[in-house]
Amino acid sequence: MIPSDIIARKRNGEELKSNDLSSFITKYLKNDISEAQMSALLMAIYFNGMTKKELLILVDEMINSGQVIKFEKSDFYIADKHSTGGIGDKTSIILAPVMAAAGIKIPMIAGRGLEYTGGTIDKLEAIPKIDVTPSLNKFKTWVENIGCAIISQSKNICPADNKIYALRNQTATVPSIPIICSSIMSKKIAEGIMGLVMDIKVGNGAFMKTKNKAFELSKLIKMVATSYGLKIDILYSDMNQPLGRYAGLGCEIKEAIDCLKGNGPQDLMTNTFELCSCLLIQSGKAKNKQESKKIFDRIIETGKGFEVFQKMISLQNGRLEQFEKKIIPKFEKIITANKNGTIVYMDTEKIGWSLIELGCGNKKKGDKLDYTAGIEFFVKPGDIIKKGSPVYRLFNSNSKKIASTSELLSNTIRVYK
Ligand code: URA
Repeated sequence: MIPSDIIARKRNGEELKSNDLSSFITKYLKNDISEAQMSALLMAIYFNGMTKKELLILVDEMINSGQVIKFEKSDFYIADKHSTGGIGDKTSIILAPVMAAAGIKIPMIAGRGLEYTGGTIDKLEAIPKIDVTPSLNKFKTWVENIGCAIISQSKNICPADNKIYALRNQTATVPSIPIICSSIMSKKIAEGIMGLVMDIKVGNGAFMKTKNKAFELSKLIKMVATSYGLKIDILYSDMNQPLGRYAGLGCEIKEAIDCLKGNGPQDLMTNTFELCSCLLIQSGKAKNKQESKKIFDRIIETGKGFEVFQKMISLQNGRLEQFEKKIIPKFEKIITANKNGTIVYMDTEKIGWSLIELGCGNKKKGDKLDYTAGIEFFVKPGDIIKKGSPVYRLFNSNSKKIASTSELLSNTIRVYK
């Protein structure tokens, strides 16, 4: 197998042979194929796509690059949720404990930030000492004991996605539909789940900017799910504005806790409920949306979801009692509106890049994240604003970055009189 020959064939639009794709991945994991060669193959796939046959081989190879979890036969429904990525999307952190409180097991393998979108794992790491890369046995025991745990891909679980994911983040190869599909589905299938609900984000802050792109991804995800015998529901949700009131790292955990305590913002609670409802119906715990609403509301009102969240963090070694102190930012700045009118557009992708600038994501491999960093949103599209009223509050612990982020954020809202 000659790596540059495989890259050239994909670049020229040929279908790759099963052996070629398999050995490319295997050799990349052993460092016998360089980062440059893998980047070139990813870019060729970005431009030329993949056939169904190639995609299924890639998914299989990525799953089998690590261990696959097998839960012993039990009466429990084992399921998960995954989002294609957005700004302020902390739904997974709320959904996992709520579903566990409803009796559904959620062994969630989540990701880090990708390009301008936030990552569940980066946000969770704002909690001191949290373990997101346990052994497979530990992960399984956590899920069996309290019903949920949230971990990252690692050297043991989905190592191919772990390595390729980080590379995509630096090489502008993220928004390739077959690669997104393989990244998501390899993690989900490795979890040993029976059912999945997908949140495909659509809009100017998502990788799928149009409904057509979202449908394209949806078709591939359904095809892979079906071929692995997984029950699947797909929701499309709007990402033309950030989700919730905050986006960033520690502040998103805080907002997720607010939701679990019943004080969450409407858009975030609705998104979380819609996804939970699919899993409750899939599992047979609810017959319809009305029943699932009752279950969801009861879990929030009784504080059972928050109880499971606390147990989950504690089992994962996280120190929740130290968390609030650790995420106090040193600096903040309020950005105000420069005219009166109605907000008709928010450039959500640019807001995402601003969060990276602020310290919430990597610009290059090894960059340290600032867990105190984030943005509070005072307004959303459709709101009426007055000149001088607050639009954003930026906060972090690096004053230089506050200044550069303010510049990036200028012109991210369009206001009509
Ligand atoms: N989530 C993933 O796990 N992978 C992607 O490529 C996008 C979102």
